[in-house]
Amino acid sequence: MKPVIALATLFTLASATDWNARRNFHARFAKRQETTTTSSVTSSVSTSTSVSSDVSSTTLPATSGASSVTASGTTTAAASVATTLAGTSIPPLSEITSGAISESTIPLSSTATAGQVPSISGAPALPSYTIVSSEWPTMDQMPSTDSAEVQEWMTELEGFDIPDLSTTDGTCAGSPEAAADAANRGWWTCGGYTRGTDIVACPDKLTWGMSFDDGPGFYTTKLLDYLDERDLKSTFFVVGSRVIQNPEILRAEYLAGHEISLHTWSHPDLTKLTNEQIVAEFGWTRKAIQTVLGVTPVTMRPPYGDIDDRVRAISLAMGMVPIIWTRGKNNEQFDTNDWRVAGGTVTGTESVEAFENILSNATELDTGFIVLQHDLYQQSVDLAVGYTLDLALNFTPSLTLEPIGVCQGWPATDLYLETTTNTTFPYPDSVISTNVSTTASARATAVTADGAAQGSGARANFASLPTLGAMLAGLSVLVGGLLMV
Ligand SMILES: [Zn+2]
Repeated sequence: MKPVIALATLFTLASATDWNARRNFHARFAKRQETTTTSSVTSSVSTSTSVSSDVSSTTLPATSGASSVTASGTTTAAASVATTLAGTSIPPLSEITSGAISESTIPLSSTATAGQVPSISGAPALPSYTIVSSEWPTMDQMPSTDSAEVQEWMTELEGFDIPDLSTTDGTCAGSPEAAADAANRGWWTCGGYTRGTDIVACPDKLTWGMSFDDGPGFYTTKLLDYLDERDLKSTFFVVGSRVIQNPEILRAEYLAGHEISLHTWSHPDLTKLTNEQIVAEFGWTRKAIQTVLGVTPVTMRPPYGDIDDRVRAISLAMGMVPIIWTRGKNNEQFDTNDWRVAGGTVTGTESVEAFENILSNATELDTGFIVLQHDLYQQSVDLAVGYTLDLALNFTPSLTLEPIGVCQGWPATDLYLETTTNTTFPYPDSVISTNVSTTASARATAVTADGAAQGSGARANFASLPTLGAMLAGLSVLVGGLLMV
């Protein structure tokens, strides 16, 4: 076993405790962002009847107590690819830690205007919108299932087979019965089980389907400037609470040609939730994105990758295809661990090393790949714009960096309910593909076949698809159990 693989596998196996830490950290961080920005959002609402795109109050507030980070631009630590982004600074890698000095945030370089027409064919003009806090669920808390909205969205599940799977606690160790049945449930968390309808890679070898999760956040603008300078496009998996908080950043992502996908309202483990709670998480996020952009994504990413056949079926019934991230040949997750830098359990240098391992492992795949990275945290954005993205751009053999939809070969119109003319995507009838496939190209074929079958009224069963090793799954449970003691 190559050392890089061993290291990556270690990251995977040491997951149970980390996951708990991650959940807690995410909640705390999101809460901090909410606290910092509440006044901005509230005041803009109270002083104007319409928070339309040209309202200046949406300019990002500087982080409280922020002090300017001295420009370095010549970092020579683990990654010798120091980047100078015009008008910004990139901290030395050694300073990208949980205790990093808060940087000033960068204002949006341009402001969207209501009525502006996006470049996607058939896309509606950007709407005017009004954010009234009382009309939305509490930030970063699971929305109530009693609302008229959720009850209305529940009707979208009618006529679909939603598997009657028990809820879990989100971990293998804490849910031993579900973990033992992970293959049958298609539970990604324990063993990486996927279905043919999941997107977990790009079809073409050496193609990176780039994505950033958990924003739009304070530091997303720095990432957007970098991507613009490099003429790169990405997919953004956005949290509904952040959309309500930073609507203009979402508009900037969308207008710049990035792909927008859904990532729930409060970032829970979805297998922990009841059907109604899952619908509430999806529904409010979908509504937030549609309110701000005028379009509704037809793709989603489950937080922590926590999906099983019940969550899948609900997602597909609501018109959203799940997108996760790649696992390599040894089940190692393509996770940069950038969130753990902000959380304090990994250094910036270690995160860059994890990314280097990902690229190394990617060269061994027959397909392209998808990596987990984040734009919510200052540290993760600095790692991306200062180090990892340039590593990928300068990698040998050369990589193609694309948003996930582009790498799948989907036309941009396929990404949103309002623009799609595709009658087989998102997949009709919410059927989870039972075709076993280990490559994205094979998966694409499988989906086409399913679409034809669904069109004739056939309904597939939820068959077991053990795409990854049961032995590793069992080992994860064991290790998780030990860590939980
Ligand atoms: Zn996330």
